[in-house]
Amino acid sequence: MTVNSIDSQKALILLIYTGGTIGMIENQETGVLETFNFQHLLQHVPELKKLGHKIDTIQFNPPLDSADINPDSWMKIVKIISDNYNKYDGFVILHGTDTMSYTASALSFMLENLNKPVILTGSQLPIGMLRTDGKENLITAIEIAAAKENGLPIVPEVCIFFENDLMRGNRTSKISADNFNAFRSYNYPALAHAGVYIKYDTVQIYHAVSRKPLKPHYLLDQNIAVLKLFPGISPQVVESILNIPGLKGVVMETFGSGNAPSCDWLLKMLKDAVDRGIVIVNVTQCSVGSVEMHRYETGHKLLGAGVISGYDSTTESAVTKLMFLFGHGLSPEEVKEHMNCSLIGEITIPELGRS
Ligand code: ASP
Repeated sequence: MTVNSIDSQKALILLIYTGGTIGMIENQETGVLETFNFQHLLQHVPELKKLGHKIDTIQFNPPLDSADINPDSWMKIVKIISDNYNKYDGFVILHGTDTMSYTASALSFMLENLNKPVILTGSQLPIGMLRTDGKENLITAIEIAAAKENGLPIVPEVCIFFENDLMRGNRTSKISADNFNAFRSYNYPALAHAGVYIKYDTVQIYHAVSRKPLKPHYLLDQNIAVLKLFPGISPQVVESILNIPGLKGVVMETFGSGNAPSCDWLLKMLKDAVDRGIVIVNVTQCSVGSVEMHRYETGHKLLGAGVISGYDSTTESAVTKLMFLFGHGLSPEEVKEHMNCSLIGEITIPELGRS
C-alpha cells in the first residue's frame, strides 16, 4: 500500500545541525571545505519559511565533520531528542555523510520505543553552491518528519533520506563519495520514494509494538573491533586484533555468504577468542545478501569455532549494536542471544522471512 496524502496541519519540527558538507564553506586560501555556522546554512534555504511548519533549530558547537562524530556525539543527539521529545512532532538531523549510517544505526538502538520520525540527511555539495543537493534533501526530510496520517506520524523510526529515497537508518551504507545518490539499503526495501509525490511504502515501516514512553539509552561500550578478511591475511594481523586488551566484540567481514579461509591457525585463533568470551559476529563483505554459514564448508567451520551469524547486517549496524549491548553490561551469552534477534528491524532472520 502507498500513502501520498499527508495531514496538512502545521507540524513542529526540531532541526538538529551536527555539521557536514551541507553547511560547509570553501576556505578562500586553501580551497578546503570547512564547517561553518548554522545561520549561513539557513540563509541559503529561504524556502524553509514557505513550508508552513514551525521549525526550531539547535546546533552542535562547533559543528563537526562527521569523521569526528563518535559515541559521545550520539549521546548528545539522544539527549537533545529526549529533552525535546514531547514538544515536537518530528526531528531532522543534518549530519555529514561519511559516518551518517553509523549514527543512524546507533540512534535506532539508543532511542527505545521511538514513535516519532527521526530523519537524518546531509549533502554532497555545500548548500551555498549552485548545484547543491542539500536543499532538496533538507526540504524533503522536513516534509517526511512532519508527515502524519490520522494524526499519527507515518514514519516513526530512525531513517536516512538522501536524493530520492527514505531508508531505514540501520540498513544503510554510504556507497558513493561523488554521487548525489550516495546511500543504499541493499537488504531492506526503501520506506518511501520522493518523486513528484512522496510515496510511502507503509508495509515496510516499523511501528513500535507497545506505546511505551521513549526510553533514551546512553550506555555504549567501545571495546569493539572490525576484522576484514582478505586472501593472504597473516596470523600476525588476526592475532593482534583478537588480543587487544579489553576487547569484547568483533565484527568479522567475511567472503560471500560468510566464508573464511579454512586454515587451522585462523580457526584456532577464533575459537580461542570465543572461549575467552569475545563475541565474533560474521557479516559479509558483499553489499547484498546474507551470511549462511551452513552453505559451504568454509563457512561451516566458523560455526564450529563459535562464530555467530550477523545475517544480512551492515557492518555499521553490527558495530553499533555490539557497542549498545555490551554497554548495558550483558554477558557474552546474552549479547549472542540479542545478536540473533532483530531489535529494531536491523536484520532479517530467515525463519521469519522479514524483520
Ligand atoms: N566529510 C563530510 C562529512 O562527513 C562529508 C559530507 O558531509 O558529505 O562531514
